[in-house]
Amino acid sequence: MFFGRITTRRANRRRDFTHKLTTDLAKSHGLIGIEDLRMKNMSKSAKGTTEAPGKNVRQKAGLNRSILDNIPGERRRQLEHKTLMYGSVLIAVPPFHTSQTCAACAQVDPESRKGCGRLFACTLCGHEDDADHNASVEIEARARRTGGSDINSTRSTKTVRVPAASRRRMREAPKPAHAS
Ligand SMILES: [Zn+2]
Repeated sequence: MFFGRITTRRANRRRDFTHKLTTDLAKSHGLIGIEDLRMKNMSKSAKGTTEAPGKNVRQKAGLNRSILDNIPGERRRQLEHKTLMYGSVLIAVPPFHTSQTCAACAQVDPESRKGCGRLFACTLCGHEDDADHNASVEIEARARRTGGSDINSTRSTKTVRVPAASRRRMREAPKPAHAS
């Protein structure tokens, strides 16, 4: 009972936060770019089979838990209908290497995220930034290349790193040729 009540309270807080976040984003930004992470596929891949058990199952299970805990699918679903409601544009971009791509010079190198800490430090041009901020700038650039370039409202633009579950009513970005 006690556990159940705590869980409900947490779920309510999370739901309120998600509603407020998505409303604020859709109201105050003309263009919202998100990563199209196809969460369902990612969640499925950890288990593996009896014949071929998944590698890194423990790490992946932890990742999936945190993805599901952040209810990115629900955020995306709300963004989809709220951007329609408030006249802003939501664009899902290919998520490949957004964390390893330099927003300043476009160099892709895992070494730019040494230790996967908060720091992004480009191995080519030396650009340094908070890793999430660097990735969000890259996501915005991809969103603009995918059809957001004409969006020039008085509202500023904002990108959020939200994994994607549903592709309903979304403008889909083409995958780069090298993506698998
Ligand atoms: Zn660079």
